[in-house]
Amino acid sequence: MNRVIRNDFTAPELLLQELGVPEPNDIDLEPIAYHVGCEIRYRPLDGCEACILGAGDRAIITVTTRSNKPRQRFSLGHELGHWHYHRGHSSICRHDDIGNLVRSSLQPERVADTYAADLLLPRYLFEPRLIAAARPSFSTVEQLAIEFRTSITATALRLVELTPSVMLICHTAKGRKWFKAAADVPSRWFPRDDLDADSYAFDVLHREEDRSRTVKIGADAWFDRSEASRYEISEETIRVGAGKILTLLTLNVPKMLEDWTHR
Ligand SMILES: [Zn+2]
Repeated sequence: MNRVIRNDFTAPELLLQELGVPEPNDIDLEPIAYHVGCEIRYRPLDGCEACILGAGDRAIITVTTRSNKPRQRFSLGHELGHWHYHRGHSSICRHDDIGNLVRSSLQPERVADTYAADLLLPRYLFEPRLIAAARPSFSTVEQLAIEFRTSITATALRLVELTPSVMLICHTAKGRKWFKAAADVPSRWFPRDDLDADSYAFDVLHREEDRSRTVKIGADAWFDRSEASRYEISEETIRVGAGKILTLLTLNVPKMLEDWTHR
């Protein structure tokens, strides 16, 4: 019998459907790993987050117990990504190998990250919940992170992939670490490296607050383009670790979203 290729689902989403996973609470990684030939071990690893040792069609995945549970789940999903795409190679993945957005999307570690995101936050379960939420915000991200047992960062990244006109930016005291924009945001909106002292994100990074409420701010606080001074956008920031913040920008201005590429 010919297998029907369903282009609208990724490999991990097809795996979840094959296993009949109807709710986020049913994304139980141990039986999923077992189904694809992997045994899971949890150990207090030093120097790496997770590793996979495979032989033939069986593998052992070891995940460190030194990281929190959402991180352990993402690392396990990442190793299952290596098993799916890079079978035959053993991998030892350090902290910076997993969930590192500075890497190119073609590199094996990013490919494994994408597999993990699709497995833990499958679009067919995530998108209906996102649509039901009132508006894109960190409170929506926090609710979904609890339901899917994922980190705030992984959940916020998924939100950006599936929500128009938004941008997620990560800063530390050293400047911008990475950003991700929704598909409809034109590439001319490239965020500044530094944090403007007028931004509410600046207060969260440098003062005591753990988060800001959603506020309107001039787009020139975030973008160096001269046209930015004409627009107002929404900004919301949350602290996600020591010295690390995430900002969600909503560029809900039709003029900003005009594509100038073919002008
Ligand atoms: Zn890896």
